[in-house]
Amino acid sequence: MEPKKKFGRKVGCERCGRKRGIIRRYGMHLCRQCFREIAPQLGFKKYS
Ligand SMILES: [Zn+2]
Repeated sequence: MEPKKKFGRKVGCERCGRKRGIIRRYGMHLCRQCFREIAPQLGFKKYS
């Protein structure tokens, strides 16, 4: 059973809440823009 959390439903980008262009990869739910911004920090330096 999953407890009710404020962000229990990942319907959009975890960072900005955008619902378009979501990348569900590596356990993340981020839009392309946010993904590109944080990718270098996560070690994905070459995402294209
Ligand atoms: Zn975003």
